[in-house]
Amino acid sequence: MLTPGLSGHEDRVRRLIARDLADLPLKLRTDTLGNLIATLEGDAGAPSVMLFAHTDQLGFIVRKVEANGLIRIERLGGIPEKALPAQAVLFCVGEGKDVRGVIANKSHHATPAEEKYKVTPYAELFIDVGAESAEDVRRLGIAIGTPVVYDPRIIHLNENRVIGTSVDDRAGCAVVMEVARQLAQGGPRPTVHFVFAVLEEFNLRGAMVAAQSINPDIAIQLDLALNADTPDMAHRGEVALGGGPAISLYSFHGRGTLNGTIPHPALPHLFSQTAKDEGIPLQRTAHTGALTDSSYVQLVNEGVACIDVCFPCRYTHTALEMCDLRDLEGLTKLLVSAIRRINPSFSLDRDLYT
Ligand SMILES: [Zn+2]
Repeated sequence: MLTPGLSGHEDRVRRLIARDLADLPLKLRTDTLGNLIATLEGDAGAPSVMLFAHTDQLGFIVRKVEANGLIRIERLGGIPEKALPAQAVLFCVGEGKDVRGVIANKSHHATPAEEKYKVTPYAELFIDVGAESAEDVRRLGIAIGTPVVYDPRIIHLNENRVIGTSVDDRAGCAVVMEVARQLAQGGPRPTVHFVFAVLEEFNLRGAMVAAQSINPDIAIQLDLALNADTPDMAHRGEVALGGGPAISLYSFHGRGTLNGTIPHPALPHLFSQTAKDEGIPLQRTAHTGALTDSSYVQLVNEGVACIDVCFPCRYTHTALEMCDLRDLEGLTKLLVSAIRRINPSFSLDRDLYT
């Protein structure tokens, strides 16, 4: 979470993960887009699995540097404009050279009544890096096209909860890494390709490219599930933070993408049965308005059996997203147990489940 990785600029995150996995018996490679693919060989007779999470995060790109040194931004990903003013940000100029700034908020003393409840569109916002001129900004290494993210932060709240930048989807990445570590210790397992994917917040298609080359039988995506346990979200469903991992039974996004994921029936069956046998609480989610790159992965080659498996998350796409560490532990346990059950007799024949 402390390592910036705007969509299309995930390389620092990828290198960090690759370094962390270096001691495991994995075959690592990076494709042209920047997807990190780590393969753990297993029973060749069992369906192969791609387990993936995205390394990228949403943010901004420098659009214009004003003569007075204030900076205009373009959006990258699902930016919540309501939650931007007065946020600290980081211009990713280069490791060790990054520059901090603040998204300006009009002085409260100068805000008339009619502006008090108005949201400022991102195109009207500007960022202050403490520079006095465009020349000053250039000297800091900032130019049109420089990636900008929320100032990376992680804050522990109470015993089990964490808030910070890009919980979406670094929490997913952390779980994929831990699942790799546990499956690598031995025991029954199919061949698993752990993929740390790019571009999810931009176009949802980075993981699709990885899947095209891996050609897995099954793909499991780890990403957030919208919480429904705060007053503003209660109508959305039943997912509670701290209530355990979740499986998504339906997602759809109609605005432009016309895509979503309805899981292959073998997979909700697998995860429900595993959770029951292992005594892991399992939540369910179904909603429109969002989707993940599993929607595109499912369409690769002759079709891939896909499912979204999730950790509950609050305050999504803000600078301080929240998750519960117990949910991540439950998710890890669920995945390790479920993947171990994918053996040569595990069938993707839909007629067995419908
Ligand atoms: Zn995500």
